[in-house]
Amino acid sequence: MQDGARWHHEAIPGIRVLPTSDRLLGMTFDDGPDAEFTPKVLDILERYGVRVTFFCLGAQVDANPSVARRIVFAGHQIANHSWSHPHAEDVTPSELLREIAQTTETIHRVTGERPRWFRPPYGELLTEQAREVAAAGYRIAFWSVDSLDWSGIPGPQIVANVVPSLQNGAILLHHSAGHVAGTVDALPYEIELCLRLGYRFVRLDDVDA
Ligand SMILES: [Zn+2]
Repeated sequence: MQDGARWHHEAIPGIRVLPTSDRLLGMTFDDGPDAEFTPKVLDILERYGVRVTFFCLGAQVDANPSVARRIVFAGHQIANHSWSHPHAEDVTPSELLREIAQTTETIHRVTGERPRWFRPPYGELLTEQAREVAAAGYRIAFWSVDSLDWSGIPGPQIVANVVPSLQNGAILLHHSAGHVAGTVDALPYEIELCLRLGYRFVRLDDVDA
């Protein structure tokens, strides 16, 4: 599903970069877990010893519990991306809150973890929704670098979308479900390039707990 940055307002609480001047990158993967691509992403991350943040859909966690557990056992941060990936304008604040709560309960039942971070589907969040999500205790994370991998582009194009925008504290948006064969192709090159440039990968809650 497309997570193109659209019209999140500057007044809405939430981070777009990590608050750091160190050479740290927050790599994130949305819309999983699935049975096909998320395990491949996990294999690659494990090979490089890289820890990241997975913004998971409750419905996907419910359908793929063993992959969700693998995310947590591997030391990655598991976070909340709603239950059904709605557009912000299609849900009231209380409906969105219900989706988030149901997702948190499912993640907790399946993995034992209670996610504290939320990323709005499509990067869309209305002011009142943002206020209620923050009041419920969630940290809200957007991103600063969009790989555009959801669109089914090939691996080299994904790497080319990411690398020129790297900076200290950048939050990189990828997906681990959907049309993301290109993501699996890109990931080893992207990680190796970032490491050669002196960056280190962190979970979002490593820097901004
Ligand atoms: Zn998404």
